[in-house]
Amino acid sequence: MALEEIAARIAEAEAKAERPAGSVQLIAVSKVQPNERVQAVLVKGHRIFGENRVQEAEGKWPDFRERFDRIDLHLIGPLQTNKTRQAFELFQAIHSVDRPKLANNIARIAQEEGHCPDVFLQVNTGEEPQKAGVLPGEIDAFIESCRSLDLPVKGLMCIPPVAEEPSLHFALLAKMAARNGLAGLSMGMSGDFESAIALGATHVRVGSAIFGARGVA
Ligand SMILES: *Cc1c(COP(=O)(O)O)cnc(C)c1O
Repeated sequence: MALEEIAARIAEAEAKAERPAGSVQLIAVSKVQPNERVQAVLVKGHRIFGENRVQEAEGKWPDFRERFDRIDLHLIGPLQTNKTRQAFELFQAIHSVDRPKLANNIARIAQEEGHCPDVFLQVNTGEEPQKAGVLPGEIDAFIESCRSLDLPVKGLMCIPPVAEEPSLHFALLAKMAARNGLAGLSMGMSGDFESAIALGATHVRVGSAIFGARGVA
């Protein structure tokens, strides 16, 4: 099955980069996938999943949680401020924090709820106008302000431009994280997770390579 193959390739990439075995978390990106495919991966024992829409996650994960324990769900897509509270109920980590208004809202709800998902700050490393994320020139100040809000900032996240060499973006993200003392790097997808691991990824987000193409039954 594809899950085992991806896990083996991750282990190989860790070894090649002389990184400890198990230092990279595999987030199985289950967005849009049929429930049978997701269930098959749960049955194999995998527990870390990624979704990119709050509403979609809300529709499928409460049921899975009744049947499988220890599910660790990561939000990897954009979060509207008015969905923050729902996100708190569903997700153990939010990888898409990219603006002060959202950061403030998360901090306020964390106060009220007494807990907070892990936070990754999304960086628009390619400075693409249509893409979410803080610009590289603004990330240091944004990290600082998130820390002053007491957010549990674990690391940085990026989605490289499709037409560019991803490793340049992975290296840039790693540099920004290192100079700010952040250990977490959410980077690498089906087509490039091995090079992301070589450059320090701690969380790879792999969808189609595990589940098959999206929207194809
Ligand atoms: C869909 C998605 C992925 C997974 O993409 P694949 O190419 O299917 O591995 C990773 N990260 C984000 C932010 C996504 O939206």
